[in-house]
Amino acid sequence: MHSVNISEVRKVGGRYKLLIVGGGLAAVSALEVLAQEKAAENCAIISSEPHLPYDRPPLSKDYLLGRIPREEVFLKPESFYSENGIDVFLKKNVTALDTSARKVHTHDGVHVEFENLMIATGAELVILRIPGADLEGIFYLRVLGDSEAIRKAAGDSRSAMVIGAGFIGLEAACALQQMGLSVTVLEVAHTVFSALTTPELSDFYLNYFKEKGIAFVFGEKAEAFEGNGRLRAVRTSGGRKLRCDIAVVGVGVKPATDFLEGSGLELNNGIMVNEFMETNIPGIYAAGDAANYFDLIYKRRRRIEHWDNAIKQGQVVAQNVLGHRQPYRGVSYFFSDVWDLHWQLVGDFEGATQRIIRGAMEDRKFGILYLKDRFLQAMFLLGLPFKEIRIAEKLIVQKISLEDHLEKLKDPSFPLKDLLPS
Ligand code: FAD
Repeated sequence: MHSVNISEVRKVGGRYKLLIVGGGLAAVSALEVLAQEKAAENCAIISSEPHLPYDRPPLSKDYLLGRIPREEVFLKPESFYSENGIDVFLKKNVTALDTSARKVHTHDGVHVEFENLMIATGAELVILRIPGADLEGIFYLRVLGDSEAIRKAAGDSRSAMVIGAGFIGLEAACALQQMGLSVTVLEVAHTVFSALTTPELSDFYLNYFKEKGIAFVFGEKAEAFEGNGRLRAVRTSGGRKLRCDIAVVGVGVKPATDFLEGSGLELNNGIMVNEFMETNIPGIYAAGDAANYFDLIYKRRRRIEHWDNAIKQGQVVAQNVLGHRQPYRGVSYFFSDVWDLHWQLVGDFEGATQRIIRGAMEDRKFGILYLKDRFLQAMFLLGLPFKEIRIAEKLIVQKISLEDHLEKLKDPSFPLKDLLPS
């Protein structure tokens, strides 16, 4: 499969029925649907990476810790692509899209034609461009090789600086602590997980991380990396010099759409798509981290950088390529793990005006229900049965008023399913 050459394919194959730019999670979930329908032949992925598509969550968790073998991070074995007649072109960066000729161009000068196109290029790292940024020992965490490089460097290090207290930064901090390093997290905001806009949760996690021995510096930025060839310290805007052997930077990502500038596709914080995940050009779709879609549940545009979203949107694109004209109606969902804490969040808490804590945070068994006008918008869950997440999803979709149950919801023994119509 890897030996297939794009120019040969063009000569014999003409246009692909579905060409996917970006070989990640959304790509594979689309192809899985097509393969189930025996319709994956004449489909192809073009990926800038040297590997077959793999799963990213383990890169900051079990794979980073060396707890699972490399084979386990791959989403599908090689046989999936070959047996279903899917061409996979690796190490090819798509640099331009020609919407009228319906073809894409790659960095090495070939073009590939398509009938339908799905752009699933995900997100790319925000790089800290500060003095010393090219020193050895500074890492980011997005691709398989990053995870392997961090693991290797951590093995030879005693201290790590994590820059950014969002999901990736904190998961990395957790893994590095478990690898025996002393870890300091530097964050410009004044708490962890500030994106959750839930002070109770930020306090809960901050305390937990501190209990595990992680140190924090808040309210300051990294201004320079210092060292002589190799990183030795991070200088902060508060004038501190924080010594460290390695740094892992997790300061965010942006949609990987630069190559689409000027293509005629509508871009605005990602690729603008309608509820069918279709762009302003018919037959050209986008899915996953790169797609800015209209959320039919929350009635607003959103771009989501989470696993579940990439899977479901990829599936919807496949259904639409098959001609089923299916809108995307997923309720956003996210999970994350640190140490023994596994949590999930369903829905969108933006605009919520009320929070109800269900259970006891001190027991590490609780939920947070986010409400607006007495209707559930989102639910966070940790240590309580995860089936409640699915029930919460139904409460959100069916717009069931919780007006008469606000007090009862605080008690985790009150079954949420009782609120669903029988
Ligand atoms: P990706 O999986 O990022 O795939 C996009 C692919 O396109 C990449 O391989 C990229 O190299 C390639 N590409 C980009 N531009 C081009 C181009 N021009 N030409 C060719 N190829 C290109 N989500 C959760 O819900 N829970 C988690 O616990 C969680 N943990 C995560 C941990 C890490 C370390 C990371 C990085 C992400 C995590 N996520 C998590 C997020 C989740 O993995 C992503 O939302 C998901 O991978 C997005 O899928 P995607 O298909 O849109 O993009």
